[in-house]
Amino acid sequence: MASPLQSLLDSNRAWSNTMRNQDPDFFERLAQQQAPKYLWIGCSDSRVPATQIVDLPPGEIFVQRNVANVVSHSDLNCLSAIQFAVDVLKVEHILVVGHYGCGGVQAVLDDRRLGLVDNWLRHVSDVAIKHAGMLGAIDLMTLRNTRLCELNVIEQVVNVCQTTTLMDAWERGQQVSVHAWCYSLADGHINDLDMHVTSREGTRTAYESAIERMFIVQGTMR
Ligand code: ZN
Repeated sequence: MASPLQSLLDSNRAWSNTMRNQDPDFFERLAQQQAPKYLWIGCSDSRVPATQIVDLPPGEIFVQRNVANVVSHSDLNCLSAIQFAVDVLKVEHILVVGHYGCGGVQAVLDDRRLGLVDNWLRHVSDVAIKHAGMLGAIDLMTLRNTRLCELNVIEQVVNVCQTTTLMDAWERGQQVSVHAWCYSLADGHINDLDMHVTSREGTRTAYESAIERMFIVQGTMR
């Protein structure tokens, strides 16, 4: 009997053949080892597939995704991904990637009950509460979503920088930087929030500059 997922299995075989035709050694090479330069921490949203939107093949990005791209200091899953990526794979860049119109972020703004996931989204609520002044000054809900998506990414970058993994890596002189991106579902473009942290000492300044830019973009005073 054919699998109910036969169409996916067929697509898989066709994709494998195409890859092999383009590069006969592709799978053999990848099977030996992975050596990605990037760790991607993004949202689980099906519309934001890491390698596809930066046009990279398998093997180039180590990926951690969860609802609303949260980096929580008590989430063993995310902390382990960061530790493995930095200590073992020696990635050079960690990208925290939010996306405009994020449903998790919107649920926070709407104060909507979705179930168990509400507990997870409390992390995003904390970001909203921290920046209530800036968010409260925005009338249009779509713009409020935009701003909270960006603020959430900025705060999660700080959370990455404050992990023991990053602090230890920087202390021993390992070159690894953390960046803030926000992806647009509307046109497929990534917006670089221009926050690039390369050291423990630089975290505070990078954070304050990023928040300052948010105020300037919005044209409001603190
Ligand atoms: Zn999302």
